[in-house]
Amino acid sequence: MSGIHVYDMIVVGGGPGGYTAALYAARAGLDTLVLEKLSAGGQMALTEQIDNYPGFEDGIDGFTLAEKMQQQAERFGARSEYAQVERMDLSAAPKMLETSEGTFYAKTVVLATGANPRELGLPNEASLTGRGVAYCAADGMRYKGKTVVVVGGGNSAAADAMLLSRVAKKVILVHRRDTLRATKVYHQPLMQAENLEFRWNSTVAELLHEDKLTGVKLKDVNSGEETVIPCDGVFISVGRKPATELVAGQLELDRSGYIIADETTKTNLPGVYAVGDVRTKPLRQVVTAVADGAMAVHMAEEFLAGGQ
Ligand code: NAP
Repeated sequence: MSGIHVYDMIVVGGGPGGYTAALYAARAGLDTLVLEKLSAGGQMALTEQIDNYPGFEDGIDGFTLAEKMQQQAERFGARSEYAQVERMDLSAAPKMLETSEGTFYAKTVVLATGANPRELGLPNEASLTGRGVAYCAADGMRYKGKTVVVVGGGNSAAADAMLLSRVAKKVILVHRRDTLRATKVYHQPLMQAENLEFRWNSTVAELLHEDKLTGVKLKDVNSGEETVIPCDGVFISVGRKPATELVAGQLELDRSGYIIADETTKTNLPGVYAVGDVRTKPLRQVVTAVADGAMAVHMAEEFLAGGQ
């Protein structure tokens, strides 16, 4: 095709996996573009304190780490474009990506679109978001001295509850089972927090509100008994859903919607790689996302050299 610019690699999504792919690709001399909706970092940018990414002995906030990753990739010539991808043809040659800022073409594509918070699916959940309903404890400072409910039993809920217990007057952790799924490292600090109370075997049946949230109605999953808990905020931390709507029908997805790819990051389409939270994997962390980014470029270089 003449007259169009064909990148060696387009990375969709500027989280840690995406910018690591961009760093490795640019450093290897590949003509590389990152397409990002808003700003670098993805979900990581919303994390107040990251203590398990090596090299930062005092921890680092996710937004700063994201900026550093972007700047590092750009130092080697990767380009960033703020654009919303609207349609992709990943089987075409070159691969085509239609975006809010025009159409882009590439020989290889790295999908690093991540995963977004899962909703509870309650009436008024969407309209109360930002008015008492939140999906990210980074909003926690607004609840200084107030009572908040955290829903979920995984690492996110545990981390959110810990964070909120430092600012809120009282935190009530609501979980649908009688044990946490979160790793052991959280258990003791949670049990020891004086202003934190657990509601086991409970789900949120209703969000109570006037113009903003005023409380939640909990339902005991065993007895069916309902209790009203007045609160100022509810933090929903019940897992993620992968951002794969645009590739459904082109790429193989698992039952939860994650792109099926092993540690090679190869998808079912040649020259298309899935990195970070968007792919099937047992551990979704910054450190595993960045490893994927490096691997995708390794595989893409083989592909560009004529292998698979
Ligand atoms: P997760 O591990 O999938 O946990 C989701 C939690 O929400 C589970 O406890 C689940 O209950 C509960 N849940 C799901 N749907 C629900 C519903 N409709 N109503 C009520 N409860 C519901 O998700 P996550 O905590 O967001 O973590 C996602 C990934 O990020 C994980 O791989 C995690 O390890 C990682 N992460 C790591 C850290 C860290 O290491 N510092 C921090 C945050 C996240 P059940 O237990 O009954 O299934």
